Amino acid sequence: MDPGDFDAIVSAVREFVNREVIPREDEIEETDAIPELLRSEAAKMGLFGYALPERYGGLGFDMEEEVRLCFEVGRTSPAFRSLFGTNNGIAGQTIANYGTEEQKQRYLPALASGEAVGCFALTEAEAGSDPSGLRTRAKRDGEEYLINGSKRFITNAELATVFVVFARTDPDAAEIPLVPAASGSTPARRGSRWARTTGRWGSRGRGPRRSSSTTSGCRPRR
Ligand SMILES: Cc1cc2nc3c(=O)[nH]c(=O)nc-3n(C[C@H](O)[C@H](O)[C@H](O)COP(=O)(O)OP(=O)(O)OC[C@H]3O[C@@H](n4cnc5c(N)ncnc54)[C@H](O)[C@@H]3O)c2cc1C
Repeated sequence: MDPGDFDAIVSAVREFVNREVIPREDEIEETDAIPELLRSEAAKMGLFGYALPERYGGLGFDMEEEVRLCFEVGRTSPAFRSLFGTNNGIAGQTIANYGTEEQKQRYLPALASGEAVGCFALTEAEAGSDPSGLRTRAKRDGEEYLINGSKRFITNAELATVFVVFARTDPDAAEIPLVPAASGSTPARRGSRWARTTGRWGSRGRGPRRSSSTTSGCRPRR
C-alpha cells in the first residue's frame, strides 16, 4: 500500500479509537458487547478486512502494516479488536491461504466488508496446545459433510456466520488430517448446541460467553 494512504488510515483509526471507543470502555464491560455504532464504523473504515487480499475486498495490509495498526486498536478494550480480529486472522487467513477459489469468492468479500463475522473452531477438550488430540469427525455425505464433535473457547462463535471448522475426515490416519471447512450461518448452526462458559480475563465485550459448542449432525456446505 502507498505509505501516504497507509498513514492516513492509521491516523483515522487512532482518532476513532480515542474519540469513540475509549469513552465506551465501561459500556463494553457492563453490557459485554461492542456497541453497534462501533461495529458499523469499524466496517466503514475497512477494519474487518485490513489483512485480507485486495482482490477480495480487503485492504491487503502486510505483516508490518498489520502490527502498526494493532498498536492503535490495542490501546482499548481487547474485545474491540476481537470483533474483527478473527476475520483478518485465524478464520479469514485460513480461507485466503487454503480455501478453494470458490470458497474465497464466496466468503472473503463478506468477511472483508464486515457483513459476516468469521470464527476458527479448532480447540476441543483434548485438543489445545496439541491438536493431534482432535476428535471432531467430518464424514462426507453427498455434497455435504456431516460434522460431529465438541469445540470450546471459540472467539466470536456467537456472532459468526462463517465457521472454519477443523475435523478429522479419516480417524485412522497417522498424520493430523485437519481440514478447514467454511460454512454459512444456517447450515453451520443447524444441529449445533451452544453452552455458556465461564468468563476469561480481558474478554468482556466479546459476547455472552457462549463459546462452547456441540455439533451433532451439523451439515456445513463445502
Ligand atoms: C481468549 C482466548 C481466545 C481463544 N480463541 C480461540 C479460537 O478462536 N479458536 C480456537 O480454536 N481456540 C481458541 N482458544 C483456545 C486456545 O487456542 C487454547 O486455549 C490453547 O490452544 C491451549 O489449549 P488448552 O487451553 O486446551 O490448554 P492445554 O493444551 O491443555 O495446555 C495447558 C497448559 O499446559 C501447557 N502444555 C501443554 N502441552 C505441553 C507440553 N507438551 N509441554 C509443556 N507444557 C505443555 C500449556 O503451555 C499450558 O500452560 C482461545 C483461548 C483464549 C484464552
